[in-house]
Amino acid sequence: MRLVDTHCHLQSERYSEDREAVLEESLNRLEWLVIIGDDLPSSEAALALVRHRVYAVVGVHPYYAAAFDAAQEEALAALAARPGVVAIGEMGLDYFNEYSPRAAQQTAFRRQLEMACALGLPVAIHNRDADADTYPILKEFSTSLKGCIMHCFGSTAADAERYVELGFHISFAGNVTFPKAEALRDAARVTPLDRLLVETDAPFLAPIPFRGKRCEPHHVAHTAACLAELKGVTLEAFTAQTTANAAAVYGIAH
Ligand SMILES: [Zn+2]
Ligand SMILES: [Zn+2]
Repeated sequence: MRLVDTHCHLQSERYSEDREAVLEESLNRLEWLVIIGDDLPSSEAALALVRHRVYAVVGVHPYYAAAFDAAQEEALAALAARPGVVAIGEMGLDYFNEYSPRAAQQTAFRRQLEMACALGLPVAIHNRDADADTYPILKEFSTSLKGCIMHCFGSTAADAERYVELGFHISFAGNVTFPKAEALRDAARVTPLDRLLVETDAPFLAPIPFRGKRCEPHHVAHTAACLAELKGVTLEAFTAQTTANAAAVYGIAH
């Protein structure tokens, strides 16, 4: 079984010159990949890239929560019903970049959690410096959610344990390979292998040795190699387990 990229933004303008080539190379090297929206236009653009072995997640990022009104909610529900959609997101709270007021972030977050529960879809969570509110909100929904991915995990090992206890998956991106990311590696150490996912968040956070460059989905292999070593398993065993985890949480059968 080959690796997958559980979270990338291939619809980003950073790929406007060579999107199809990047997608083709990534599909040559990966089993499948998931393209994530962060507002309505980017969710629509993610859906436009859906094809064999390419899936979409549609949602509104906390950056854009202030604009999330009833009309957007209705439009998002329509996008969520389209073929190829495997989750709602990315949604959540970002108190580091407080581009929308916290109250608006929490409202958009709750509305999308309710939508995911109603549609029976899992969720992709963006959480930055906001665990004090993210955790209790997610706990409230945890028994009704089909699945929950803590994407680009950036909190502590103790936080990772709390989210794992709720039944969630913890997804690590390329920043886990950075020299100073020991706290993040601690979080990966305490995450059970059967709850661990790997992603790029491309075009952001390219792993070593591509740090600072535009990230591409197939770069996930470098993050996977780092994590496999951390977990003390072969890359083959790591890949088989994390790809199976991702397939289970997204409901993707290959
Ligand atoms: Zn994010
Ligand atoms: Zn993202």
